[in-house]
Amino acid sequence: MPELPEVETVRRTLLPHLVGQMITGVEVLRSTQLKNVSPEVLKEKLTGKEIRDVGRRGKYLLIYLSQGEVLVVHLRMTGRLLFYAEGHEVTPHTRLLIELIPPAELHLHDVRSFAMVFLLPKAEECSLPGIAALGPEPLSADFTPAGLAAALARHRSPIKNILLGQRVVAGLGNIYVDEALFRAGINPLRSANSLTAAEVGRLFQAIRTVLADALGSGGTSIRDYVNGHGVPGAFQQKLAVYGRKGHPCRRCGTTLVGERIGGRSTVYCPLCQPNSAKSVK
Ligand SMILES: [Zn+2]
Repeated sequence: MPELPEVETVRRTLLPHLVGQMITGVEVLRSTQLKNVSPEVLKEKLTGKEIRDVGRRGKYLLIYLSQGEVLVVHLRMTGRLLFYAEGHEVTPHTRLLIELIPPAELHLHDVRSFAMVFLLPKAEECSLPGIAALGPEPLSADFTPAGLAAALARHRSPIKNILLGQRVVAGLGNIYVDEALFRAGINPLRSANSLTAAEVGRLFQAIRTVLADALGSGGTSIRDYVNGHGVPGAFQQKLAVYGRKGHPCRRCGTTLVGERIGGRSTVYCPLCQPNSAKSVK
């Protein structure tokens, strides 16, 4: 699933092409991906509107339109939002086609059809349940070591689960939680409220640096993710633990172990991320 660096890379690749574009038509090829609007209403409300901005909150893309509406897209597992300057044929996995000034087009391509599309009035996009519950943006000034410490102190579940939950910090998924915990030297089973101030400080820095590094590589492409031009990211070559169960730790050479935590596969180094009596299952 695309996480913050992937969704942000999609935003950055689409932004220069979409801002100032006019929507000239809409074709809905799979209506079940529209979550709060019918194909007829979407077509009526989008056609003739200008795209003013492309934003992001957590893993949600926010396409701001003239006359005060916002098209909200969550790519989920396999969704791709692709800009074609010269148009493109509809494929068996094209779910939504937004016609721009001819011949430009924006396609939602989604093999598994889990992506979600919402249309909301501007100022109400933040009230969407998935967005309203989000914690601070990790690369913004709203995310601070003190705020992270206060939020973690309220939870005794494993730190892995708490970071995946989106409420303490937005945008992290399985890849970057495992990578951040490795960089911080924190065992994923540790109870969130057991972290010392020094550990919270390391975790704060690790979250910021792993996201910034992944953004610098255009995101991580394990299976499906590509940017707004269909180009994969390169951070998969730099992953320290995610997907590396049974391989040697890049730092100490110890064999990395895999374990399911909160139903999610988790990989860590038992030496660099020692477990302690404070861990919970
Ligand atoms: Zn190690």
